[in-house]
Amino acid sequence: MEYSTVKKFAAVVNTVILALVLGLMYFFHMCDVSFLVYFSIPTALVYVIGYVLIHKNHLTLYVTFIYMWITLYMGVTTVCLGYGYGFHLYCFSMIPITFVTEYMSYRLKTRGMKAAPASLFIGLTYIICTGYVSYFGPIYERDQKIAAFFWIFNALIVLSFLIYYSNYLIRTIISSEEQLREIAHIDRLTRLYNRHYMLSCLEALPEGATDRMLAMADIDNFKKINDTYGHNAGDEVLKTVSDIMKSECRGCEIARWGGEEFLILSPEGVSAGREMLENMRRCIEKKPVEVDGQTINVTVTVGMGFRKSGQNIDSWIQSVDEKLYYGKNNGKNRVID
Ligand code: GH3
Ligand code: MG
Ligand code: MG
Repeated sequence: MEYSTVKKFAAVVNTVILALVLGLMYFFHMCDVSFLVYFSIPTALVYVIGYVLIHKNHLTLYVTFIYMWITLYMGVTTVCLGYGYGFHLYCFSMIPITFVTEYMSYRLKTRGMKAAPASLFIGLTYIICTGYVSYFGPIYERDQKIAAFFWIFNALIVLSFLIYYSNYLIRTIISSEEQLREIAHIDRLTRLYNRHYMLSCLEALPEGATDRMLAMADIDNFKKINDTYGHNAGDEVLKTVSDIMKSECRGCEIARWGGEEFLILSPEGVSAGREMLENMRRCIEKKPVEVDGQTINVTVTVGMGFRKSGQNIDSWIQSVDEKLYYGKNNGKNRVID
């Protein structure tokens, strides 16, 4: 979110609250609650000053000032009318808003209000005002039907806000967790898992799981492809080979292990692992990559093996790597079991 957007948003909120204050001022006048009518005058002035602060880019000062005044306003209305009107309920929505404000300052890299002391101030005002009214009763006793209307109206606003806000918060957390997970687990070029994530998958396998097949695949003569067709064409080859691996090795976890090296982990109980890898190898061989009107023939060599009982992950990887090495030295474009 940009600073100018926040400024516009603050100006809109300021206008809405100012309109509410003027509406309430009229209501207090109708109910003959003279103190609140007078108190509404400096309150309205605060919001007029608010426009100046927003305009002059003093957003932190504006937010702090407004929060303190709203808290005071809630306290004064509660003491005057009692909590039958539900003005004190706004404390419950103000506290989460203070934390959002602190978060926004962090995102905008500006010095902002600290949510913890601000919340403490709101909480204390709430306890003092409601405590006072419980003990002494409200200063003005007014029509209970109007109080009921206000109570329902204010409670509806606060509850709707809390439900909306909690939902928004959880969705935001889930989506940023997904984004972070993707950054941490996925290779950007090929959209396969990265080495780090694949290692954690392998380490999470139960010790005695001997029914999983591991394969290491390496593109043959890739350096020559880069040298002949350019690095961008090499990248296209990596993407195409990765796509073929994904479609031919369904259910497998596939990672880009290094530059042009891939690690494939089969699902549990795979019986035709070698067949699957042979199909993949054949498919890559038969589908030349077209880049900028040029046709690039690609092949891969694969080393594969099931985990032996008691074998650790490093030695399992090493054993398939040795088979790959054997394949490279014995003609390439083969699957070595
Ligand atoms: P071999 O058949 O024995 O596997 O030979 P090779 O040429 O495939 O292997 P070598 O290890 O000699 O070369 C791998 C090349 O892969 C070198 C490096 O520049 C290239 N490479 C590594 N990562 C990338 C990448 O992300 N994009 C591109 N285009 N090239 C990459
Ligand atoms: Mg290679
Ligand atoms: Mg290599």
